[in-house]
Amino acid sequence: MRVSSLYLTMPQDYQDQADYCNMVVIGFYSGSPESLLKTIQTIERRYGRDRSKEIQKGPRTLDIDILLFGEHVLCEESLIVPHERMIHRQFALVPLLELLPECTEPGTGIPYSDILEKIPDQGVKKVGNIYGY
Ligand code: AMP
Repeated sequence: MRVSSLYLTMPQDYQDQADYCNMVVIGFYSGSPESLLKTIQTIERRYGRDRSKEIQKGPRTLDIDILLFGEHVLCEESLIVPHERMIHRQFALVPLLELLPECTEPGTGIPYSDILEKIPDQGVKKVGNIYGY
């Protein structure tokens, strides 16, 4: 339903790769979190993602993560929500807060803006949006 700006981000773990382009989208979804995960993995494959050929944390064609699923807190083998690394990633929190400045962490109620303030700079740069501006 809403999309953030596009952000260029330096690779965080495996350094020998191009910068990443990141964004956050918000939508309505009537299925379960698990079925959403299956759907996003189908979309990743459709856009050429083949995990068997990837270096861990290395370049990938498309990577879609579920950051939040409403106020749900899930800790399953294949799905952790809120996404467990989002609180360490400026490239997830900056676009999220662009769309939802008051957003708080489900379960704890901590504002993501407070969490973002404590993260060291990771070189996230707004570069435009999907509409070409
Ligand atoms: P990645 O290679 O970074 O896309 O990681 C994908 C794996 O992380 C998948 O096999 C998922 O089962 C698992 N995973 C756990 N929590 C999440 C989440 N919130 N969003 C997307 N993938 C998740």
